[in-house]
Amino acid sequence: MDTMTITLYPEVGSSAYLDDSTAIAIIVTINAHELPDILDVDEFFKAVQKSGRFPLFTCGCGHFGCSGYYVNVVCTVTAWVLRNRYHPHNEQLMEEFEYHIPWQQVRTAAQEIVHYLQALHVQYPHHEISAGVVGLNLASHIANYDEILSSLP
Ligand SMILES: [Zn+2]
Repeated sequence: MDTMTITLYPEVGSSAYLDDSTAIAIIVTINAHELPDILDVDEFFKAVQKSGRFPLFTCGCGHFGCSGYYVNVVCTVTAWVLRNRYHPHNEQLMEEFEYHIPWQQVRTAAQEIVHYLQALHVQYPHHEISAGVVGLNLASHIANYDEILSSLP
């Protein structure tokens, strides 16, 4: 089994157009190796529910395509398996790896993200919250993520 931790970075409103929005960046570390780019929070909560290929990591700006990559995900009974990195445009193999993350660690990460989003939403009730500057507004999905969290193995 491998070890996954996440680090949450707020990048709160430095420029004028961020007045009513809060950008966050989540870095994923596996076995002390920092994975490139930032976690796409909405894709993460999809990828913990079913196997498939997901655009799991996105550019720090929030735009999947200028950076970011697909990862093949397999949900087994014991672990959340992450396999290989694929190019955001043509899905060509960029890097081979296979990580087996025990569900307990996935739950912990999901919980940290939900708590973080909840805290931000309390602090900035009228802000949009996005992974990267231009990402989806996560604020309206927090309750959904909380439900997914409680359904994890
Ligand atoms: Zn970018």
